[in-house]
Amino acid sequence: MGVKKWGTKPYYSLDYYFKSIYGQKIYKIALNAGTTCPNRDGVIDTRGCIFCSEGGSGDFAEKINEENPDIKMQIEAGKLRIQSKITGGKYVAYFQAYTGTYAPVDYLRGIYTDALSDEDIVGISIATRPDCLSEDVLALLADLQADYPDKFIWIELGLQTIHRKTAVYIRRGYELTVFEDAVRKLRSLQIPIIVHVILGLPGESVDDMLATIEYLNTFQIFGIKLQLLHVLKNTDLAADYYDKKFDALSMDEYIDIVIRCLTHLSPDIVIHRVTGDGPRNILIAPLWSTDKKVVLNTLLKEMEDGKYYQGMNYENSGFFNVI
Ligand code: SF4
Repeated sequence: MGVKKWGTKPYYSLDYYFKSIYGQKIYKIALNAGTTCPNRDGVIDTRGCIFCSEGGSGDFAEKINEENPDIKMQIEAGKLRIQSKITGGKYVAYFQAYTGTYAPVDYLRGIYTDALSDEDIVGISIATRPDCLSEDVLALLADLQADYPDKFIWIELGLQTIHRKTAVYIRRGYELTVFEDAVRKLRSLQIPIIVHVILGLPGESVDDMLATIEYLNTFQIFGIKLQLLHVLKNTDLAADYYDKKFDALSMDEYIDIVIRCLTHLSPDIVIHRVTGDGPRNILIAPLWSTDKKVVLNTLLKEMEDGKYYQGMNYENSGFFNVI
């Protein structure tokens, strides 16, 4: 292995980060807070991002009672599932489905507090859009940071790409400057940011994807999720796929792209994901991605054989540094 600084992995994994902070594995409980999304409710669009499933990209989140998305109950259900395999578990409450900050602030205060007040929860991670971080929401996050100094509050931003042409195609619904503004505000509150990037978006070359990575290197973000583009049932992306407007990546292509991205990524950025879970029941392509173990093992072996590691091609040029 080229580098030993992250334990057994050639990159700075979330697992390694958690073990170095808490001395144990931390499990994620994916939640559905019953929020919606402005890209679905008509405020921006009614169709959603072109790849987004009916579950609002939260297909693994706990199932909810629409009238009462009881966060405490979801957390207990999540713990029960994990506790059958472990003892003394600690958890992250992950507000995954739809847009986790898109609701009245009092409601958000309630659901985040429900999670933060649980003694087994070490922190919360909220997936959202950069255009859904109003001053009220930011003030709430700052309050909660003060109220729960021993717990973390992370924000996950679905950027997917820096390229405007692709952003328009996927109907992301906001400009890159909106992302930059959100990062600036979150950083001023010292809220760690995790950015979601999709690899294999139609029309993007490997150089385009690497440009997104190089751009993110300049923002001092905390973490990144590298996600394979999944084609899911009942999405407009699926219609384009059936019309042969693009091809899904093969496993070899994907692994090659992930390795390139990792070698170009700052070694300080924590890798929260290198694959992406396609829900089997609605996944159209690529079907190889359902075998996450094989994907991960192949990635690790190729990195080991090639002596690749995170940051080996990273140059801290400060070229784009807008913060
Ligand atoms: S912003 Fe998220 S929840 Fe909303 S449509 Fe896009 S992927 Fe789906």
